Amino acid sequence: MIEVAHLTKRYGGRTAVDDVSFTCAPGSVTGFLGPNGAGKSTTMRMLCGLTPPTAGTATVCGVPYRRLANPGREIGVLLDASAQHAGRTGREVLALAAAVMGVPRREVDVKLDLVGLGAAAARRRVGAYSLGMRQRLGLAHALLGDPRVLVLDEPANGLDPEGIFWMRGLLRDFADRGGTVLLSSHLLREVEAVADRLVVIGGGRVVAQGGTEELLADA
Ligand code: ADP
Ligand code: ADP
Repeated sequence: MIEVAHLTKRYGGRTAVDDVSFTCAPGSVTGFLGPNGAGKSTTMRMLCGLTPPTAGTATVCGVPYRRLANPGREIGVLLDASAQHAGRTGREVLALAAAVMGVPRREVDVKLDLVGLGAAAARRRVGAYSLGMRQRLGLAHALLGDPRVLVLDEPANGLDPEGIFWMRGLLRDFADRGGTVLLSSHLLREVEAVADRLVVIGGGRVVAQGGTEELLADA
């Protein structure tokens, strides 16, 4: 469960996120849709405790991210896939994360397999990965602790159509098992087929939200 209430972020005199409120329920995928610069990343960064809000609150299962006992095991986060440690191999990145989170080492290979990064890819340096491979690694990282909540910022960027189709199935499956997913994109076609609900943001403000079918029927 994700709850965002009156979340606001100002940088100097500029308001990046303006009084944003929404909730994401267990068993559902929420598409967070808006053009570049709309405030999606800033909202997600506040949700994940990386940026302090100017006002408002963001909680995961009723608790602010920074007060979660073991955040990696409760919420899986994929923010900027291009920011991963370029000098390490995919397997090293996950093994380090597993050690930090207290996740059994065998989960590293389970999750690499789940996201379609085979043994050869896992041995290569992340710096040599395509963006699509980085997204897959980022997703493996987010899933590593078997969290109940996923927050994914533009995870389809750099994936090919087959990869987008694959990720859609994985996220649908995660939600169908009772998970909560918040998935951002600047492209309607990347979220409409998987999202039960849409939160549409523009200029830092929520301009529409509701069930995907109802919203698109009105459009
Ligand atoms: P999106 O993820 O929808 O592309 P962002 O949340 O990245 O949008 O950005 C929203 C607005 O906030 C943009 O105008 C962006 O330039 C601004 N912004 C984001 N981060 C910062 C920052 N650290 N300092 C100043 N402005 C920022
Ligand atoms: P089976 O149902 O055949 O035992 P799994 O339950 O392991 O197989 O996986 C079925 C589907 O669920 C796969 O397509 C996989 O992508 C997805 N899946 C498995 N584990 C997870 C997980 N922890 N999070 C999200 N998706 C998962």
